[in-house]
Amino acid sequence: MAQEEEKGIPVKVALRCRPLVPKETREGCKMCLSFVPGEPQVIVGSDKAFTFDYVFDPAVEQEEVFNTAVAPLLQGIFKGYNATVLAYGQTGSGKTYSMGGTYTASQEHDPNMGVIPRVITQLFMEKEQRQDWEFVLKVSYLEIYNEEILDLLCSSRERSPQINIREDNQSIKIIGLTEKRVTCAQDTVSCLEQGNNSRTVAATAMNSQSSRSHAIFTISIDQKKKNDKNSSFSSKLHLVDLAGSERQKKTKAKGDRLKEGININRGLLCLGNVISALGEENRKGGYVPYRDSKLTRLLQDSLGGNSHTLMIACVSPADSNLEETLNTLRYADRAR
Ligand code: ADP
Ligand code: MG
Repeated sequence: MAQEEEKGIPVKVALRCRPLVPKETREGCKMCLSFVPGEPQVIVGSDKAFTFDYVFDPAVEQEEVFNTAVAPLLQGIFKGYNATVLAYGQTGSGKTYSMGGTYTASQEHDPNMGVIPRVITQLFMEKEQRQDWEFVLKVSYLEIYNEEILDLLCSSRERSPQINIREDNQSIKIIGLTEKRVTCAQDTVSCLEQGNNSRTVAATAMNSQSSRSHAIFTISIDQKKKNDKNSSFSSKLHLVDLAGSERQKKTKAKGDRLKEGININRGLLCLGNVISALGEENRKGGYVPYRDSKLTRLLQDSLGGNSHTLMIACVSPADSNLEETLNTLRYADRAR
């Protein structure tokens, strides 16, 4: 791990395959993915293998995904590193389930709880163990929809002021966005719950709850050592539920919905370009095209450099989704 940190591994990739959902079983879908016990490998059909940093088969539960792939990033947060967790995949592949984007207070001790509420619990536990530090924690929750930023924590969205992205001393600031100061896990999960409730959903032919937007839940942490004014760190943790990666034709979208699709794809396309440029930069010091979309611009200071990034690539095991699953595997493969 320490050696990897020195080399600056830009992005780790976890592949997560969900179980067949009841609808797929009813329609007679077959599993088209198989897994090699003890190896981070997935096999498509009978021969095509992909290897990632982690591979979670359908039996792997939320707790294991968190403990294995996400919890290690939290250590860096307390040392001043930024971190980003991105859930990628077609609509219906398990992004929101994995991230915890449907969290409500009734899920508090539910083992099906996703990444974000677990991160929150863990962060506050770790904070309690650092009594010689003073902490200021803030959260924001936004959505990028049609290349526009919407504030999910602003109580009246109509009156929410224009939101702009600025760069200040190599750090990205979002001007006009609500930032809520939080002092305990409970405050923080209620921000998550509030934002989840205001997420934009638009029906498409493919999935009536389809998320056509990127949702970014951000926790920022300032810490100062109590008896040492010179010891202080600031870091940010972004938890991102990306828009569905499916190609437009499958959703039969027309007009406005099609325009959404085109912009959404722009964010995902730019993200792919940024991540693959980061891999090359490690060797050559190349140009990273952060400015090509709102998504990558906003995450600029938290992808690459000293930041730690985890992409959770979500897939369905059903043969009916084979084509999109292959697209996701290829996208994720390019990130490594
Ligand atoms: P997405 O956000 O990618 O569109 P969802 O997270 O909404 O997909 O998941 C689609 C469906 O599959 C939901 O009903 C969800 O509860 C279920 N699901 C996803 N991942 C899992 C999993 N690992 N285990 C059990 N059910 C899952
Ligand atoms: Mg979703």
